[in-house]
Amino acid sequence: MAFDELEQIAIRYAMHAVQSDNNGDRIEALEHYKKAVDLLRKLVEISPNYDLNKFYIQRAFTYQKRIEILERTEWGRGGSTQISKTRPTASREEQPSLSKQTATENPNVKWSEVVGLDDVKRVVREVIVYPIQRPDLFPLGWPRGILLFGPPGCGKTLLAAAVATEIDAEFVSIDSASIMSKWLGESEKNVANLFNWARDQEKKGRPVIIFTDELDSLIGKRQAEIGGEVRVRNQLLKEMDGIIGKNKKIHIYVIGATNKPWDLDAPFIRRFQKRIYVPLPDKKTRLELFKFYTKEINLRPNVDLRDLARITKGYSGSDIRDICQDVYLKKISHLFESGLAKNAQIKPNPVSISDFKKILKTRKASVLPHFVPAYEKWISILQAM
Ligand code: ADP
Repeated sequence: MAFDELEQIAIRYAMHAVQSDNNGDRIEALEHYKKAVDLLRKLVEISPNYDLNKFYIQRAFTYQKRIEILERTEWGRGGSTQISKTRPTASREEQPSLSKQTATENPNVKWSEVVGLDDVKRVVREVIVYPIQRPDLFPLGWPRGILLFGPPGCGKTLLAAAVATEIDAEFVSIDSASIMSKWLGESEKNVANLFNWARDQEKKGRPVIIFTDELDSLIGKRQAEIGGEVRVRNQLLKEMDGIIGKNKKIHIYVIGATNKPWDLDAPFIRRFQKRIYVPLPDKKTRLELFKFYTKEINLRPNVDLRDLARITKGYSGSDIRDICQDVYLKKISHLFESGLAKNAQIKPNPVSISDFKKILKTRKASVLPHFVPAYEKWISILQAM
């Protein structure tokens, strides 16, 4: 079957599944989600286009998650469909239609889990937490659009989650794949529904954080028009205008995160009144990260974390977490392979510096060095805007 034909059938299955899901027809939804996932996998196999593949994979992943939830719960409620962190799941009418396609979980991240980034944390608190505590002290209003930009794996998502926990907000995380209409119906309506729902929540006294990861792939300049992206961009601009303004005392925040801020165009950048650079960790922060991620690991005295911090210049927070995890996993996998793990009294051997060095030989920094000056250059362009 030709690629286009296959794609059309996949779209039909997906739309049918979403519609059945919305109507509460679980069996029909499950059947069609599964068919859509099978076809998306086939499309990935035969399509050489990476960008498109990424889109299909994300879609298949989202549908698969939904299948798991539908299979787990009689009515397909609960799990990642929950939006509220303190209340039970909102009623079907109350939820934004996106919620079913979106990972909206209780983030429950504390500030202490965001290592380093003290300046960034301070600014994020200033622009979100203080206006919530004392809106009367902000006669000129406060920013509702906050752009976090910087290399991947440095804590942008963590920061957004931590602020949501602090202000006890509804936290909705959206990505381009969950918005695009091709698979879900009319994407701009998804955006409008999401903001309507956010306004409802806000009227009931709950702040809302709408977190958009990989903002560039949702509204970036180079975004290929494969599913109504232009309409989505315009709708998002309109919705953001609806919540910005000095006379509006609304506590709805759009936190956008991007690794490629240069792909955003001027109208969008303007809506994000506060732009915050989340950089790679410096030596001091790398040391804190190593301390944080080894605090439950038994280390030999020869492990000098300062030394590790020194030799990991250019590594991101997520690289450092992965290194600590890998080192530890190697230790415990030995226990399982040898059968020793059956004895609950047996503990893994302490980790030595050579264990770290072995992992570091194979694990290079995930952020390419030439990216860092690119961020600095972009900051100077911003200042000139
Ligand atoms: P980003 O959104 O910038 O791409 P994330 O916030 O998703 O990065 O970070 C990915 C993971 O890396 C986090 O879940 C966390 O485990 C780890 N990490 C990254 N930065 C930090 C940090 N500053 N403090 C603690 N953990 C971090």
